[in-house]
Amino acid sequence: MKLTSYGGAAGVTGSKHLLETADRRLLVDCGMFQGEKSGRLRNWEPPPFDPGQVDAVLLTHGHLDHCGYLPRLVKAGFRGPIYTTRAGREVARVILMDSARLQEEDAERANREGWSKHRPALPLYDTADVERTLHQFRSAEYGKPLGLGTTEVRFHYAGHILGAAGVLIDDGDQRAWFSGDLGRLHDPVMFPPRPPEAVDALVMESTYGDRKHPAGSPEDQLEDVVRGILERQAVLLVPAFALGRAQTLLVLFDRLLRRRPELELPIYLSSPMAAAVSELYRNYPDEHRLSATDLDAVFARVRIVEHAQRARRLDRKDGPFVLIAGSGMLTGGRILGHLLAHGENPDNVVLLTGYQAPETRGRTLLDGGRELKIQGRRLEVGARVDELQGLSAHADQDELRQWVQAAPEPPRRIWLVHGEAPARAALAEALNADMGDEDRQGARELPEGEAIDLSP
Ligand SMILES: [Zn+2]
Repeated sequence: MKLTSYGGAAGVTGSKHLLETADRRLLVDCGMFQGEKSGRLRNWEPPPFDPGQVDAVLLTHGHLDHCGYLPRLVKAGFRGPIYTTRAGREVARVILMDSARLQEEDAERANREGWSKHRPALPLYDTADVERTLHQFRSAEYGKPLGLGTTEVRFHYAGHILGAAGVLIDDGDQRAWFSGDLGRLHDPVMFPPRPPEAVDALVMESTYGDRKHPAGSPEDQLEDVVRGILERQAVLLVPAFALGRAQTLLVLFDRLLRRRPELELPIYLSSPMAAAVSELYRNYPDEHRLSATDLDAVFARVRIVEHAQRARRLDRKDGPFVLIAGSGMLTGGRILGHLLAHGENPDNVVLLTGYQAPETRGRTLLDGGRELKIQGRRLEVGARVDELQGLSAHADQDELRQWVQAAPEPPRRIWLVHGEAPARAALAEALNADMGDEDRQGARELPEGEAIDLSP
């Protein structure tokens, strides 16, 4: 087997790993670069490999940094199947459609208001491109072998978001396991990820490879934030995509308000596809911890704002209320308009809920920056910025180590991807200490753009 990474190895976005087995060329994930400008420009370049020569795409989950480049790949000539789990397929549909709509809207607004350097400003892809891409999707069942020539592929539960999977690829000669993004061992919504099997190469994520999630409960932290919002009659802005963190957050709000009914306040989920998303959870009852009754309770509490016009009314509304809208890293979506409206007021709070990639607006806020550029306007954020600790969808260093240790035998070699440099280095050190001096080749970082021979 030969492995070449074209994104998501040296950084956290744009995941694209090309695996050449005895008889197949498989692309594991096909993500969009987000955040860094140099990365975003890479989304516009032709793929660094021939898409016509790729036999199939194996998609670990529907987050944009894993699936967001698929419509470009199809435009560039990829005609093969895109395999993912059944839920993963529906999640990818929601996320890709939303991404295309946002890009169409951004291009249209840029052209109307004339602030883009490009004339005319174009979307990276549009909804028609996404429709074409969705026709190439095929469903895989968790744990069930998928034969691609002599290469066998299996998707395994990863617990990161609905439909997320790790992928085991076996060509009869060698076995490689791609972790995809790994969920937590104890999550209010998702089950823990399935441990890896014995493999020659484990390609694993390292997003929080240098971090330990705090032991304190996110519910207690949420309680403090909500008390402050009620005292100041303020607005709590929560950047979170309607799928994934938003569900976890709604579960936490539901638990909190049951326990502390005096904290009752309106909760808005400003998202054009929020209703579709709640249905998704109902369609896959075995793949998460929420029962139909839980889902009813959670969604009874939230006011869903599907239409853009109604969403804009929230921009003129006085607090107290909670407003959840995507995207989670403030790279686009409705949250930007809401932030322009409510972000200056020092009584308000912006609550970040997940990983913030470098050079995203979310990261700027997290690192203490308060000046943002949004849709050609400058915004001085006066609102308090908080991070809801422990709500991450990613395993932390201890959980990543435990996950590797749960394998029946340690992988012969671990390749670390999907992490910033300090996270990859810290996790490599920790894993190498765990594996000791046995006959292993240890954990190391996967270089980008360089073909690695995985044979012993
Ligand atoms: Zn993800």
